[in-house]
This record gives sequence, structure tokens and C-alpha cells, in this order.
Amino acid sequence: MHLSISTKVTVACTAVLLPSLLLLASWLHIGAEVGDAAGHIGHLTELLRGQDRQDAAQRALRLSIGDATRLAERHGTVPDAQWRALSAELQAFRALNNVTANDPDRALPPELRIALARTRAATLAFVPIGKELVDIARIDPDGIKPTMPRFLDALKALETERTRTRDAMGRAIGDAADDAIALNHRGTFRALLSAGAVILALLVMALWLHLRVIEPLTSIAGILRAFRADRPVGQSVPCLDRQDEVGDLARGVSEYHKAMEAQRSAQRRVDFLAHHDALTGLPNRLLFENRLSHELLRARRTGEKVTLFAIDLDQFKSINDRCGHAGGDDALRRAAKLLSGCVRASDLVARIGGDEFAIIQIAPAQPAAAEGLLRRIARATDATLTADVPIQMSIGVAIAAPDQSGGDLHNLADMALYRAKSDGRNTARFFDTSLLEEVSLRSRLGRDLERAIDANQLHLAYQPIATPDGRIAGFEALLRWTHIDLGNIPPDVFIPIAEATGQISRIGHWVADTAMAAAARWPEHMHLALNLSPLQFRDAELAGSLIDLAARHGVTTDRLEMEVTESATLLDQHRHAVHTTLRRLQAAGAIIAMDDFGTGHSSLSNLKEFTFDKLKIDRSFVAAMLSDAPSAVIVKATIGLGKSLGMSIVAEGVETAEQLAQLREWGCDQLQGYFIGRPMRVVDHLIAPVEMAG
Ligand code: C2E
Ligand code: CA
Ligand code: CA
Repeated sequence: MHLSISTKVTVACTAVLLPSLLLLASWLHIGAEVGDAAGHIGHLTELLRGQDRQDAAQRALRLSIGDATRLAERHGTVPDAQWRALSAELQAFRALNNVTANDPDRALPPELRIALARTRAATLAFVPIGKELVDIARIDPDGIKPTMPRFLDALKALETERTRTRDAMGRAIGDAADDAIALNHRGTFRALLSAGAVILALLVMALWLHLRVIEPLTSIAGILRAFRADRPVGQSVPCLDRQDEVGDLARGVSEYHKAMEAQRSAQRRVDFLAHHDALTGLPNRLLFENRLSHELLRARRTGEKVTLFAIDLDQFKSINDRCGHAGGDDALRRAAKLLSGCVRASDLVARIGGDEFAIIQIAPAQPAAAEGLLRRIARATDATLTADVPIQMSIGVAIAAPDQSGGDLHNLADMALYRAKSDGRNTARFFDTSLLEEVSLRSRLGRDLERAIDANQLHLAYQPIATPDGRIAGFEALLRWTHIDLGNIPPDVFIPIAEATGQISRIGHWVADTAMAAAARWPEHMHLALNLSPLQFRDAELAGSLIDLAARHGVTTDRLEMEVTESATLLDQHRHAVHTTLRRLQAAGAIIAMDDFGTGHSSLSNLKEFTFDKLKIDRSFVAAMLSDAPSAVIVKATIGLGKSLGMSIVAEGVETAEQLAQLREWGCDQLQGYFIGRPMRVVDHLIAPVEMAG
């Protein structure tokens, strides 16, 4: 049977109350008994006192009678008043005896009762004889002598009985006192017994409360506290199988615990995902940046040095091309494992995007520790050389200066990485001040570029694109920047800066506006080719604004060619937006050309996803095609591919008559390069057909 705690407590309280009530009742009872006993003793004492009074009266009577009779015998004359007084005294003695004799107390011991009765009887016998003696002595003093022996006998009998009564009374009082003492002892014993029972019951109840209620509640409270403070709970919730209030509480706490644990582990998972890269399990950029700024702050106190390694996988794009996405992912995972195996516990390896990794190293002795880590990484990457896909990486290292921000440190490491790459990949470079000059130059250029449009430092050059028979099909607009102090800055330098500083959309708009204004003056069949940076596609209105610009300048959209590099169409999360923009432009009649075809990402998969109108073969292939058989194969195959897919093919970087002749022979649709024409500010003289050799 399962009883609730409240029932048990009620039962226990009743169990304590019962002996308490018994105790009380016994106290009351014993009190009454003791009261009775005291009353009894009092009564006996009162009787004793009555006997004393009778004794005294008896003695006085005896003396008075003795005196009067002796006087009567000797002189014969006793005043009458004295005889009357004696008679009255006898009468009073009898009355005194009656008072005592009339007490009907049944509680008196039988012996005493009998003794009292006999005393009363002896008194009743004595008083008439006394009276007779007094009467005789008054009338005839000679009658005293014969009456006297009877009087003395009655007196003696009375005294005997009185002595007996006194003895019996003494015994009765002694017995009553003994009874009262025994009663007292019994009462004390009973009180002690009941108090003991109450104390025992209370102790049992307290022990039970402690073991069954307080202790479980304390441990449940401890679990809740540990749980709230997010400390390990360590034990399971007790009393789960108990069918009482503690069991209910324990089950409630356990369910709450489980629900919260599930919620917390989901939260931990969410936190982990928010701060880690799903592919490699490494910390992501967010966690990396947080940790970097935290470590930089900490290093100010501890004096340790924070060193940042910026790492790029070499040839990742070609790994992707050769092995597909799965192969690329595998290479990234292996690289992550490799790096994690080289660092110490206090260091942090993160994947901060694409094929970029970073390591935060905390060590007091630099550059020794960084060199040690680089050696370990080099050994590990060398060990992969025999694998199908070797893991190679370029590394830039920067050691934080005091008070340096995370962003600045990362820039320095990136500069060193850039240098490592340009020094021939699979190498590592430490940042030094010569690189700093490059950094500050870049940031200066970034700032100056902001004012370049308003300061009239930007202009466009137009490079002709010709057909094999020498007619000019159109011009590609190429941006030029003449810096006020530094002179001409190549677009390969400042376009990435414009992209990095968020200025590319504004500049791209200026290019389109300026070029369309020029194209409006060209013959209507001549196309205008514009280069679009991948970052311009972040603007969802790009297609609309280009179409608007063309309309404003009176250039029909079918004269526009948009050159995009493959990296634009590969922008992972913007892929859809890029395709939408390109489709809108294509639908409006513009030609979409893939620039620098053959470099970069997987070309063929891109062609499958979006239908380009044109391919521009990268000038590196054209430059090499007459001396390098694979390049020749690529150029020839690309031209064939274009034909079969209905795309026109442009060869870039045509510098010689030989190249031109070969490209013509292979059936290339259009040609561009210094041999046809350099980029020029003014092209008006070229809009007539040009003479081409061969
Ligand atoms: P791109 O689109 O591949 O442009 C062709 C580049 O090849 C131009 O370099 C041009 O001057 C150069 N070139 C043309 N013919 C020959 C040749 O026969 N031999 C050699 N060696 N080079 C030749 P440029 O003007 O320095 O432009 C470099 C890159 O800058 C362009 O490559 C393009 O990606 C980017 N760019 C230029 N203008 C703009 C622009 O307005 N917007 C955007 N987004 N990018 C631009
Ligand atoms: Ca181009
Ligand atoms: Ca190109």
C-alpha cells in the first residue's frame, strides 16, 4: 500500500499524540488519587485529634469526679453547683463522643472502624455509671465507696478501648502515608514511561522525516542547483520509484532535467554549428575572429605573442577540376586534419572560407615557435607527396605587435601569404616591413580611388575586336587610372582594390555610362564589350540599370557584350542571382561572353549550367600555342567546342601574324590583341575596316 507523506505525517502525529494524551490522563488520575490519599490522611488526622480531645475531656472528667467524690467522702459538703457542673461535663463528654462516633466514613480500615465502635460502646457504658456515681455522691457520700469499683472498671474499659483505637489509628495513618508514597512512585513511573514513549515517537518521526523527506529533498535541491549553474549533475535524481509527494517531485525534476538537457544539447549543437565549419569540423571565421581578438587582449596581460598563419591550399581549383566536388571536399578535410595534427592544444586551427585556413599560435618565444610549426607542417605536407592528391599549401605568417587589431594582423598575414604565393607556392613567408609598404600602398590606393572619378583620373581605353577578314566587330572597354602622384596604375592592381573596398559597383556604373556614351557615336553594327566584376552581381538591379543606361544613350542592347569571368558564375551563394542577371541581359539581346576561358574553375561544368554566347580564350593559351602542344590542343578544341555549341570564339592576346594565321586556319570567329590593335583612348580613326597581314 502506498501512503502519501501527509498521511504518514498525520499517522505519526497521532502516534505521538496518543501517548501524550495517556500521559496527561495518567497525570490527572494520579493527581486525583494523591488528592484522595491526602484527604484520607487528613480525615484520619482529624479523627486522631477528636480522640485527643476526648482523652483530655476524659482525663478532666476523671479528675473532677475524683476531686468531688473525695471531698464528699471527707467533709460531706460539696456545693450543688459543682455537682451540676459535673453532670453537664458528663453530658458534654457523651456529646463529644457522639460527634466522633457519628462519622460514617466507610473508607476507614475495618480494624479502626471496630476500635472506634468499641470505644463508642465503652463511652456509652461509662457515662451512665459516671452519672450514677455523681448522683449517689451528691445524695449520700457513703454510697460512693460501693459504687466506685464499678465506675473505675468502666473507666478502665474505656481507656483500654481508647488505647486500642489510638493504636489502630496510628497504624491507619501509617498505612495511608505508605499508600500515598506508593501512589506517588507509581505516578512518577507512569509519567516517565509516557514521556519516554513520546520522546521515542518524536525521535522515530524525526529520523523518518530526515531519511525519507529531508535527505531526498536536499539531494534533489542539490541536483537542481548544479543543473542551474550548468555544473555536471553527477548523480541521477533519487526516489524516482516512490509513490508519494517526494516521488512526484523527483519525477517532475527528472523530466525537467531531461527536457532541459535536450534543449541544452540542441543549443550546444546550434552553437557548435554557428561556430564551426560543417565540412571539416574546424572553428569557422566567426569563432576564429572572436578568438583572435580575445587572444590579442590576453597577450597584453601575459606578454605572450600571438602569431597568425594565413594558409591557402595550392592548386585547389585544379584539384576540384580533376576530382570533382567530392575530391575537393576530401582534400579540404585532409588539409584540416593535417594542420590540426601539427598544432599544440593552445593553438587554434580554423577554416575561414573556401580553401583558406588560419592558425592562431600562442607562444612566448617567436619566431622560434612559428618556425617550429612551419617545419612540422612542411614535414606533414611532404608526406602527402606520394598520395593521389598531394596536399600543398602556401603560408603567410605575421607576429602581432603590441596593440595590433585582429583585422590588421590578418591583413599582414595575408600580405605575407600573397608573397609566398608569388614566390612560387608551397612555401611560407613571414611578414616584414617591405610588405608593409605594399599594404600601405594598397590602402592608400583604396582611399585615392574614392576620389579618382571626381578628380577625372579615370578614363577608358578601347581595344578593337576584329573578325578574321579584318573588319572591326567592336571594342572592349578597358579601365585606366592615372594617379596624380604614381602615374598609371594597372587595372590588375586597382580593380581588386575597388572590389575589396566596395567601390566596384560605382566604378562599373561609371565605366558603362562612359563607354555607352562613346559607343553611341560608333557605327551601329559595332559592339561594345564591358567587363563585369563578380561583385557587381550583388546588385540585383545590375541588369536593369545597364539596360536603362543603354536606352538613355541610344545604344540598342543587342550591341552590348558582357564579359564575365568564370569566378562570377561560380560565386556559390550568389549563383542564382548571377544567372538571373545574365539571363535578363541575354533576353534583352545582349551577348554574354565568358572571359579568360581556360583559366580558373571547371569550365565545362559552367558551360552546361549557363548558355554563353561567346568564349574568350585566355591570352596565356594564345601566347603558348605555337610552342606548347597542349596549349595548341586546348585552343583548337575550344574553337571546335564553340562551333558545336553554337558559341562564337574570340582569341585574346593575338600579338603576331603567325598566331593570327593559325587561329584563322582553325576557324576562330574573332580576334583581339596588340597585333590587331592596342587599347586606345580615341578609336574614331579605326572605325573604318583595318588592313590585316596574312
Ligand atoms: P581582360 O578583360 O582579359 O582584358 C584584356 C587585357 O589584355 C587588357 O589588360 C588588355 O590590355 C590586355 N591585352 C590585349 N591585347 C593584348 C595582347 O596582345 N598582349 C598582351 N600581353 N595583353 C593584351 P588590361 O587593360 O590591363 O586589363 C586587365 C584586366 O583588368 C582585364 O582583363 C579585366 O579583367 C580588368 N579590367 C579592365 N577594365 C575593366 C573594367 O572596366 N571593369 C572590370 N570589371 N574589369 C576591368
Ligand atoms: Ca575582358
Ligand atoms: Ca580576358
